[in-house]
Amino acid sequence: MPPVHEFDLIARIRQRAAARGDVVLGIGDDCALLLPPPGMQLAVTMDALNVGVHFPPDTAPADIGWKALAVNLSDLAAMGAQPAWGTLSLSLPQGDPGFVDAFFDGFFALAAQHGFALVGGDTTRGPLSIAITAHGLVEPGRALRRDGAREGDDIWVSGTLGDAAGALRQWQAGAAISPVLQARLDRPTPRVALGLALRGIASSCIDVSDGLLADLAHICRASGVGAEVDVDALPASDALRAAFDPDTRRVLQAAGGDDYELCFTVPASAAEALGNALVDAGTGATRIGTITAATGVRPVLAGAAWSAPATGWQHFA
Ligand code: ADP
Ligand code: MG
Repeated sequence: MPPVHEFDLIARIRQRAAARGDVVLGIGDDCALLLPPPGMQLAVTMDALNVGVHFPPDTAPADIGWKALAVNLSDLAAMGAQPAWGTLSLSLPQGDPGFVDAFFDGFFALAAQHGFALVGGDTTRGPLSIAITAHGLVEPGRALRRDGAREGDDIWVSGTLGDAAGALRQWQAGAAISPVLQARLDRPTPRVALGLALRGIASSCIDVSDGLLADLAHICRASGVGAEVDVDALPASDALRAAFDPDTRRVLQAAGGDDYELCFTVPASAAEALGNALVDAGTGATRIGTITAATGVRPVLAGAAWSAPATGWQHFA
């Protein structure tokens, strides 16, 4: 398809944006007008994805659209917020309608799953880059924060760890990429239902984007506590076990990012409620350790201190 003008691209996006009762005015004016339910808190987050940094240049446009939204919905999930609306800044090397249509195939497929409305944005020319601001709703005092973990709390993680990093490792090595791992990298599942179910149960929560140990360290710092983690207890998919030797697999699970699982802490008194919440949310989770008074995150393997070569991705490191 030949390149088209900015306003034609916006018209294509506007046509496809789903309505929501609380969107008074969506795409098309200088601002969107939204009607938040009275008394609810807004949870607001923003994440950007840059080509070559957050996804390989040959990533399918539909997967880029999915992932750009997924990483933002994952932040809402980690706060226990119900996704509502968002805006999207799209920087494109050229006005390629084929790219834009495919991008929004992925974006709106995920948005529809969560009733998330795209209400505005900006479209500019430049290197491929996507930034989304997502807004969610949560009752006052019920958000899942990073600063509530207490000594003795159990540490849990949803799903499996290391899959996305495993796919990246295979891609970097020029090896065949396992389709299961590839899907986890390209189309992460934001754990929205789990985040909502954990309100009133988890004492703290974070989504695993930089690597489990690094993200758990954020909880520990914010809460003024430490953690002991059983490396052997970290959940692994069959695909990951099949693709890597145990040493490499453990590093991918403990330090690999991009899985967008939830890591959360639960006081012993809420153990039964957690069991019910996991059933309600339809998401599996594994107990991987305990919060300690002594600060720092201590991974342990077979009773001895274990150290990963790197503790998570940091930009500008
Ligand atoms: P303005 O110049 O007033 O900022 P624009 O021409 O940039 O308006 O955008 C026109 C309308 O299209 C606005 O409502 C804006 O929010 C929306 N819009 C522009 N780009 C996007 C995009 N990538 N996704 C969603 N909405 C967009
Ligand atoms: Mg604008």
